[in-house]
Amino acid sequence: MTCSLCDRIAATQTKNYPYLVHEYPNSYLYLGEHQFYRGYCVLVSKTHYAEMTDLPGPLQIALFQEMMHAHALIESVFAPKKMNLCSLGNVVPHIHWHFFPRYAEDPNFTNPPWLQMHLFEGARIAAPERDALVMKLRAAVTAL
Ligand SMILES: [Zn+2]
Repeated sequence: MTCSLCDRIAATQTKNYPYLVHEYPNSYLYLGEHQFYRGYCVLVSKTHYAEMTDLPGPLQIALFQEMMHAHALIESVFAPKKMNLCSLGNVVPHIHWHFFPRYAEDPNFTNPPWLQMHLFEGARIAAPERDALVMKLRAAVTAL
């Protein structure tokens, strides 16, 4: 089984994928292609599994630890009031987590981030800003 996230992983492994923040042993952390929520990132399992319960136990634990590291990393750079983590997979059934940093000035703070998804496309960032955010996150990896 392959999917769009499998394709992204293949692209990551064969060329310099510009949204790549960090390679973990079992996953990749990417800056999101939109930044409606500044610091939005996605952590993608290197292996195609639809559900966490499909994973062997040790891999469940390892992926969870990578998720916690990514969480702390994004917090350290963007200092949100709260982090929203989402793992859905209804559209792309390949284990991944969305990290939505949420800020005090967000007028919809108490609502799920997906209620704003109609605005995400308009929040795509240009390459220079993308590169700056990726470099900021990469620099923080070593500081954790
Ligand atoms: Zn896949």
